[in-house]
Amino acid sequence: MFYSKEKKLNFKDVLIVPKLSKLNSRKDVFLDTKIIFPVSGINWEGVPIMASNMDYVGTFEMGLSLQKFHMTNAVSKFYSLDAWINSINKGLDLNYNFMTFGLEKVSNVYETISSISQKTNKNLSAIVFDIPNGYIEKFSSLIKETRKEFPKLGIIAGNVVTPEGIKQLMDSGADGVKVGIGSGGVCDTTETTGIGYPQLSAVIECSEEIKNYNGFVVSDGGVKITGDISKAFAAGAGFVMLGSLLAAHKESMAPIIRKDNKNYRELYGMSSAQAMTKHYGGVADYRTSEGKLILVEDRGPVKITLNNILGALRSTCTYIDAKNIGEIYQNSSFILI
Ligand code: 5GP
Repeated sequence: MFYSKEKKLNFKDVLIVPKLSKLNSRKDVFLDTKIIFPVSGINWEGVPIMASNMDYVGTFEMGLSLQKFHMTNAVSKFYSLDAWINSINKGLDLNYNFMTFGLEKVSNVYETISSISQKTNKNLSAIVFDIPNGYIEKFSSLIKETRKEFPKLGIIAGNVVTPEGIKQLMDSGADGVKVGIGSGGVCDTTETTGIGYPQLSAVIECSEEIKNYNGFVVSDGGVKITGDISKAFAAGAGFVMLGSLLAAHKESMAPIIRKDNKNYRELYGMSSAQAMTKHYGGVADYRTSEGKLILVEDRGPVKITLNNILGALRSTCTYIDAKNIGEIYQNSSFILI
């Protein structure tokens, strides 16, 4: 057994210190950011916020709203090929909407990606490989095989929380790595398994490692308030993924539940009993639920929240003289609180 005495940090453990700023107005901040995918060579441009590929978050409706703000969406992996084709034909922008896969056969991945190109005449720009435990060997093999088939396709893979995990996935051919285990708002992993890593430290340590590959980290999980998004960028994240913060909006497509004269919508973890029952007909004997179900009061259309997020990011930038999101990292000093 190895025991580290170093204290690890969550978003709530730190604040970003203000500094002298030449930015006199939030209007002077530009949030559209260029991100180079080092392996596929994609020059991505947009606001590096990503909706999580959860049932009531990463919907096509969410993607259509997010793309208007140049934000991205890891689309839930439970949509059919026909539903994808239909949405692309109705204007779903593939620069912002990324297809998600789990631990699938590479032949399935190949066929799905190829069918999209054949049937819509449009190519996916990037895909997300998402499994709760990104350390398993079979996962790296899937990334390697996919990379061989699609050298110019953006590949984001996760989740891991340590430099060792970053190395493994980048060496397998990913452009960026999704970081976060045990931090999600409806995640039960730390309680169930004792496994996890405080999110801010995970992002700091993984971002440091991924610089060796010119890759980027997608900070996934634990954002409860807009300030946490700024802290994730300050810690070095390239993208910040949001689950709970985008839940319960109209575009989540979760039905309204009326309770005590108020409107609520459901959000459940993708490893919860609810998700496993919906998608796999129940919790398999050898598994247990690692996610919760929560009710969140209805928040209306997501554009209000998205405008709040953009306003908050601009405000962070003016406090630390950052003209853009990249400069948040360069100009930030954290203090422990
Ligand atoms: P949030 O933004 O809500 O804090 O976190 C969203 C992230 O939580 C997701 O992107 C995913 O990585 C993680 N997550 C979603 N569902 C589950 C689950 O059932 N179990 C676990 N362990 N993590 C989950």
